[in-house]
Amino acid sequence: MPIKLKIAVQKSGRLTEDSLKLLKECGISINDGNDQLKASAKNFPVEILYLRNSDIPQYVADGVADVAILGENVVIEKRKDIRLVERLGFSKCHLSMAVPKGVNYEGPSFFNGKRIATSYPNSLSDFLKKNNLEAEIHEISGSVEIAPNIGLADAICDLVSTGSTLFSNGLKEVEVILKSEACLVAGKNISPEVQEILDNLLFRFRAVLASRNNRYILLNAPNEKIPEIIKILPGMKSPTIMPLIEEGWSSLHSVIGETDFWAVIDQLKACGAQGILVMPIEKMVL
Ligand code: ATP
Ligand code: MG
Repeated sequence: MPIKLKIAVQKSGRLTEDSLKLLKECGISINDGNDQLKASAKNFPVEILYLRNSDIPQYVADGVADVAILGENVVIEKRKDIRLVERLGFSKCHLSMAVPKGVNYEGPSFFNGKRIATSYPNSLSDFLKKNNLEAEIHEISGSVEIAPNIGLADAICDLVSTGSTLFSNGLKEVEVILKSEACLVAGKNISPEVQEILDNLLFRFRAVLASRNNRYILLNAPNEKIPEIIKILPGMKSPTIMPLIEEGWSSLHSVIGETDFWAVIDQLKACGAQGILVMPIEKMVL
């Protein structure tokens, strides 16, 4: 049996689709494993284990899985002996304290002596300790946001991404306890052979993640404006400049951060740039 890297991903939930998409963009196509617990890749030495999110830290700590794609909040909550290898930029959310809309919230001391519902008791307890507060923690595994409405709690501690769930339950976010996104985590005892596969996988992850945040930009500009445009667009190392058939004009190619493009578009136009094209990048190796 050839050595494989065992990667745990969430079986079915918020992280599943983006986790499998990332692996696919890294050239790892998985034999479809919808009903399976395990699947192998055709062209890379990995085995995918589909597991419950909340069980994954234990499996990684025990070495059942070598690595996992997991929400950072779960890593923090579960307090297992695993290490964060890379943040992956998706499933961004934060763990927050929320109270009924009508509450006149003036600070964390509000929570003293209150009943707080959560699925994340360890993270909540850290927050309470840090603020020297005593409160009653009600651990429930789902639908935490309805707890105040049914009289089960005075406040909640839950994950928020857009805030619409809080809003539709008549709650407001008052404190952010921690920020989270999907990340790659690893166990502490990885053999050198498995580490080599992990390094290879990480190289691919980084190439895909870098490409997601960047765009390839092409534009035409009068030659005398090129130095000014280069200052606006620093590029990966330096931009490529090619002469156009039209006398006195050049075509410039570069890479720009996805969010930077809109910030500099007006400056580019003011420099006389024309025919601006912005294209996605599939892989980016720096
Ligand atoms: P299990 O797989 O054990 O059922 P779960 O029910 O906690 O776990 P999901 O609700 O699918 O699983 O959430 C998985 C992860 O998605 C969370 O731990 C968190 O990292 C991330 N996430 C991102 N945005 C949100 C959000 N708005 N609410 C909840 N989780 C979110
Ligand atoms: Mg669930």
